[in-house]
Amino acid sequence: MRFNNIAGLVSVALLILWNPHTHAFKFSERHYKSTVLGNSITFHVDIPGVSDSGVPWNLAFSRAAEQWSMLTPVQVNTVKSVADPCRYDSISGVGFTNNCWVEHLATAATFRSDGMIAGADLTFDSNSDWDVFTGNSRLKVIEHPGGRVEYRLIYDFERVSLHEIGHALGLGHTNFPESIMSAAPDRGDHNEKLTADDICGVTIAHGNPGGCPLLLKNPATVSGKNTTAHFVGGVSRDRGLTYDTVFQRVDKLDVMATVVVEERHYHKPGRLHAVVELSDGALLMKTDTGFSAWDGTIEALRTTAVQPLIVANEIYVLKNFDLRANQVQKIGVSVYVGYSLVEEPGEIYYSGTPIKFRVQ
Ligand SMILES: [Zn+2]
Repeated sequence: MRFNNIAGLVSVALLILWNPHTHAFKFSERHYKSTVLGNSITFHVDIPGVSDSGVPWNLAFSRAAEQWSMLTPVQVNTVKSVADPCRYDSISGVGFTNNCWVEHLATAATFRSDGMIAGADLTFDSNSDWDVFTGNSRLKVIEHPGGRVEYRLIYDFERVSLHEIGHALGLGHTNFPESIMSAAPDRGDHNEKLTADDICGVTIAHGNPGGCPLLLKNPATVSGKNTTAHFVGGVSRDRGLTYDTVFQRVDKLDVMATVVVEERHYHKPGRLHAVVELSDGALLMKTDTGFSAWDGTIEALRTTAVQPLIVANEIYVLKNFDLRANQVQKIGVSVYVGYSLVEEPGEIYYSGTPIKFRVQ
């Protein structure tokens, strides 16, 4: 690693595949203000040659950059120029290498200015097998002398590029295996496109929460004062690949929410809240151990234990919830999520609009 003599560069984040986390979209924890300087990042990429499938490496990377540009407020540019990704300077280089800080498959090392991401070097392990393809992962079969057969996974360079660019834009790993920002090592078995989960983190961090497909509008407080907190949530039957509002009894549901606290509340001790209103009038609150009935009063509201609030806090309201096995009948469900601070008793910052869905 070469980190010497780097004036003006504040910090390095090594964001490595296979680093397990348990969150829906999540900003990088080490750098809680993970915005990109000027909402723009330019990668210098000139990787010679084409993949086995005939797609030039440069084209695959440009397509990945374009997806982020099209779907988020950050402009991800590429210029055709060689820049050594192992050289820690202010130029964002991209390349295959085994010369620097690649540990598992691929790495994004961000560099910063005034606390914002000014660029990132993306390294892809030159000792791994790469191609560009859609659909399921592929295996390479190697027959060794003596009859031993070895199976090696071939990685889709475009999908891993999407993932590493996401780190360069300040995202950590997500809990949903279908999302590009999942930490799953097998990049070939899931989606090739950015999901709502991937998009929301970047759009909120970069000042355009309305671009987040899962934003819950009209955030509110118990006291009635305005809040800059954001609340995101949705209901999925396919592990976060798509979100819906109408479900059948055969479905298994994930109800996820992310609470993005006000900037002045970062790292303060507080609690997360989720309450459920059913169409038959019942009110439930989610505690650390499950759900219990709630009388609707602030005094009776129980929640998670006190914890330091991070920028984006995940609440898994339901996880792989089997409607039929739990004997759920036709019903409408509204889920409100929020947070409170130990230092402000009685005040709650919450999603004025619920996550709504119904079971038919
Ligand atoms: Zn990663």
